[in-house]
Amino acid sequence: MRKKIVAGNWKMNTPLQEGIELAKSVNNLLRTTNIGDVVVILAPPFTHITEIVKVLDKNIVSVSSQNCASEHKGAYTGEISAEMVKSTGAKYAIIGHSERRTYYKEDNLTLNKKVKLALENNLIPIFCIGELLEERKANNHFNIVKNQLEEGLFNLVSEEFSKIIIAYEPVWAIGTGEVATPEQAQEMHKYIRDLINQKYNSQIADDTTILYGGSCKPSNAKELFENPDVDGGLIGGASLKAEDFLGIITAF
Ligand code: PEP
Repeated sequence: MRKKIVAGNWKMNTPLQEGIELAKSVNNLLRTTNIGDVVVILAPPFTHITEIVKVLDKNIVSVSSQNCASEHKGAYTGEISAEMVKSTGAKYAIIGHSERRTYYKEDNLTLNKKVKLALENNLIPIFCIGELLEERKANNHFNIVKNQLEEGLFNLVSEEFSKIIIAYEPVWAIGTGEVATPEQAQEMHKYIRDLINQKYNSQIADDTTILYGGSCKPSNAKELFENPDVDGGLIGGASLKAEDFLGIITAF
């Protein structure tokens, strides 16, 4: 049975004290709210993880990094390895966010190395895929997503793949206020699940959590999460306000 997940990607926001306060607010709201079986994850900046892990109830909220290095260790100034992330107490690592793909030119092959290192270090990858606006306009969105899966994930063996969380994030919807329609989200999520079924098997496909990301807010989360293949969300802007984030977590 796949998990329902809502993960907040804080990106490069909040100085440390503010981040700690935000994490505490999310944790406190969740202590007094019935969220059923929804798994909640916060992805603060690397610099905050160690402190934030300390203020969260482990059984209520888990922590993710927003990235990890594509190399194991060594002379890579400024990089943070999967092993280091794991040692902070984080359980997850977002890999392949479109901002990393676009601004830092991370390609599928580099991202595949990151995924493998995350898995080797017992981090659960949240692997992001999604097409650009021009790719959707050219009706090429299915090919793009297929290629991202094939090059980024599909050389994993079944046991490895079954640990992966996928986030479908159409790039044109990220931070733009323009959300995919529930039909567009469902159509792509179903397509992704079908590809997983073809590559692995129906059990693995059924058990894979596929999150939607892109301008998800309390006001539109319900209509997105209602779709049979949408298992939750990866949330940017709306995760920076504890009440808004809670509004999304309770939208199932
Ligand atoms: C994201 O950064 O993953 C994201 C979905 O951002 P936003 O919710 O702000 O569109």
